Amino acid sequence: QATVVTDAWDFAVELRSDPASAEARAAVLADPAFGQSFTDHMVVANWTVDGGWQGSKVTAYAPLSLSPAAAVFHYSQEIFEGLKAYRHADGSVWAFRPDRNAARFSASAARLALPQVPEDEFVAALRALVTVDEAWVPSAEDGETSLYLRPYMIATEAALSVRPAHEVLFGVIASPAGPYFNTGPKPVSIWLTTSTIRATPGGTGAAKCGGNYASSLAGLAEAVANGCEQVAFVDAVEHKWLEEIGSMNMFFVYADGRIATPELNGSILEGVTRASVLELAADLGHPVEERRISADEWKDGVRSGDIAEVFASGTAAVITPIGRVAWPDGDLTIGDHSVDHGVGPVTTKIRTTLLDLQYGRTPDTRNWLT
Ligand code: PMP
Repeated sequence: QATVVTDAWDFAVELRSDPASAEARAAVLADPAFGQSFTDHMVVANWTVDGGWQGSKVTAYAPLSLSPAAAVFHYSQEIFEGLKAYRHADGSVWAFRPDRNAARFSASAARLALPQVPEDEFVAALRALVTVDEAWVPSAEDGETSLYLRPYMIATEAALSVRPAHEVLFGVIASPAGPYFNTGPKPVSIWLTTSTIRATPGGTGAAKCGGNYASSLAGLAEAVANGCEQVAFVDAVEHKWLEEIGSMNMFFVYADGRIATPELNGSILEGVTRASVLELAADLGHPVEERRISADEWKDGVRSGDIAEVFASGTAAVITPIGRVAWPDGDLTIGDHSVDHGVGPVTTKIRTTLLDLQYGRTPDTRNWLT
């Protein structure tokens, strides 16, 4: 569908008359469970095929009213993003590389035949909401807390014909997020599934659309049924090449210091954290490789000691150490990441480097903060 850009978006602010009391907000911020509580306001904008984008505003967080025939309910024409705003020690609030999320949102929109949100308006929408709801950004003293931002776009047109919708809603909601690991990072266990495939060549795996997550849940259920916390998916053709873990990209740290991650192949989501880790790891002196990595290389490398650490990267948990990998006829504990032994040194160094940047504890030499 063509991009229709009418005017610059104005984000009119309609403050709600009944915001949460300071006490109620403090109670949420004291212990925010991920994605359970939302701020007082949200952003919405509406698009029609004839009129383009209109009515962008910050308004009271409230349920949406949609026809049961809205296309999103039937044909999943939907995309979303996820990023965080961090409060620094001086009280200022910063988003991490929102331009990357804006670009990914554009690419996802193109893949799902949804209209484009101009990338500067995407960032302006985040800025508008965080400005109005700034009091919901947890304080720097609370450790690794943040305000999680969730932009999304859905086909709202009430029409059962299968075609790109003529009416669409763009929105942003925000949710205070506590430290992902309450007592410091804890290695997770991964179920390596070859029976459930998340994404296929030519499919939507590289787009951030709801359907990918729906298709990943049977694999996650399989992981949980097998005593693991998360699931790793392999490619759809040979069932052999590692792609990603649930909603995280994966990294392997070799005993000689090399760091490798599966190369982008069209069915992997290109994480903002992944891209950042590749740059930071190279700066820290680690040769980095983006290439095909097989499930067998993972198993053999752990057995031989060639692979010293494994971790996953994503906005929510930043860097998650992986302590164990299991599959239908095997189970391995990974080097320094065994649940008893804590977190490997390279994983720890990369995690700390990234968090220090996000929380403004080291200079932002790359202009990654907005
Ligand atoms: N893969 C998938 C499937 C994801 O949902 C996410 C989370 N957005 C990631 C990887 C990591 O991406 P990011 O680092 O941008 O959060």
